[in-house]
Amino acid sequence: MHADLLFLDGPVLTQDPARPESDALAVVGDRIAALGAEARAMRGPATRVVDLRGRALVPGFVDAHNHLVSYGLRLMRLDLSRVEDKGELLAMVTERARMTPAEGWIVGHSWDETRWRDPVLPAQEELDAAAGGRRCLLARVDRHGGLVTTAALRAAGVASKGPFVAEADYDPLVKLTAPTLQTLVKAVAAASRRAHELGVTSSHVMCGGEDFAALQAARDQGALGVRASCFVYEEHLEHAVELGARRGLGDAWVRLLGLKLFADGSLGSRSAAISFPYQDAAGIGQLIHGEGRLEALVKRAREKGLQVAVHAIGDRAAKRVLDAFELAGVTPADRARIEHLEMAEDHDVSRAAAMGVVASVQPNFTGEWGHKGGMYERRLGWERARRLNRFAVYHETGLPLAFGSDDMPLGPLYGIRSAVEAPEPSQRLGVEKAIHAYTAGAAFAGFAEDEVGSLRPGLLADLVVLSRDPRAGDLGGVRVEMTILGGRAVFEA
Ligand SMILES: [Zn+2]
Repeated sequence: MHADLLFLDGPVLTQDPARPESDALAVVGDRIAALGAEARAMRGPATRVVDLRGRALVPGFVDAHNHLVSYGLRLMRLDLSRVEDKGELLAMVTERARMTPAEGWIVGHSWDETRWRDPVLPAQEELDAAAGGRRCLLARVDRHGGLVTTAALRAAGVASKGPFVAEADYDPLVKLTAPTLQTLVKAVAAASRRAHELGVTSSHVMCGGEDFAALQAARDQGALGVRASCFVYEEHLEHAVELGARRGLGDAWVRLLGLKLFADGSLGSRSAAISFPYQDAAGIGQLIHGEGRLEALVKRAREKGLQVAVHAIGDRAAKRVLDAFELAGVTPADRARIEHLEMAEDHDVSRAAAMGVVASVQPNFTGEWGHKGGMYERRLGWERARRLNRFAVYHETGLPLAFGSDDMPLGPLYGIRSAVEAPEPSQRLGVEKAIHAYTAGAAFAGFAEDEVGSLRPGLLADLVVLSRDPRAGDLGGVRVEMTILGGRAVFEA
């Protein structure tokens, strides 16, 4: 048998402990067919040969936590967060108007005039002219109000004057621009294209509202370019139970994993449940569920065959989730997950390890907020901040590690670099361990280790060519050069 695709002459970092490294890999159809000498022998007249010349081949990245559909929607809409005055805002609207049909909407978000050089908003005529008479809604960063064109006001039947409207005048405009299923399908396509550029081929998607429907519709229309394993929110639990939907329902493209719960909020908004007060405000955050409720939800999901993933950022939330897991009788076979797990006492890390709890963590958070003077330090002071995201401690204590991005921002190489270059030894992982957490580790967290996440014959041919061997250092210089999804090249730099 001849290979369709053959990679030669480079480190193949398999993530398979039985054979961690090879120098060649052959693909037939959508599967990995062979490694090493056996792969080289499969070269035929029609084989596409990729000479790695020292570039590294790794498994397609598995992002263990993101919101693929809303991320795609954000990509499609006009991001005005970096605008610094009304002139820049109007210029972006003018540019977008050129690509928008006359009857279409221009929808933007995240402008914040308090950060502008000059906080003067555009006049109605200026915004109307920039939009070329189109309907346009630009949400302010707080999403309680926005800038609108005359055409948009008319379409929504809002009588008050623009261009800035808020609350009761603003809500009908938001309803009018709510994405249709077809818009969400386009969002999935946009997110998939970006994912391919970054080497992401699988992702665990937190699904609310119509996300699950959008992923399926996208798949039917050939717009889904990432294998999506889904967690649904608490409000969907009883529907899933009623249908008898269990973990594993679906296929390699859209699959149900289970239930996503929230135990607390975030450090950024000081709503993460912590043991000692925040440094920059009063309070210790808040647990979301009352006594007994979290335990009951975990128990019910587990009994009904759904995997459980619970968001816990503060140490008090982590403790609470582990109590719930213990009461529900969680064992390593459940692969119950804590999402984020930014703070946890040593004793709780050990309890988590004993139950085989997967630490589904986001190394990019360390990159974004973990430096001296960063958000973590402002909220908690350095002594506590330096004890967040202790990936090395989790790993050494025996927790299975799964890396994801929470799309803040999407991008495994940035996450891997953030873990490798983290400020504290307790947070820092070697590059091979970090790659493992973003491939095989994340696949394990979604019960998909026999399909994706490592390079073994028989597994799906989801592959990434990196511009250099990441083990050589200088991770900032490593790029994704090629992404293969099910044996097909979906991105080439
Ligand atoms: Zn999230």
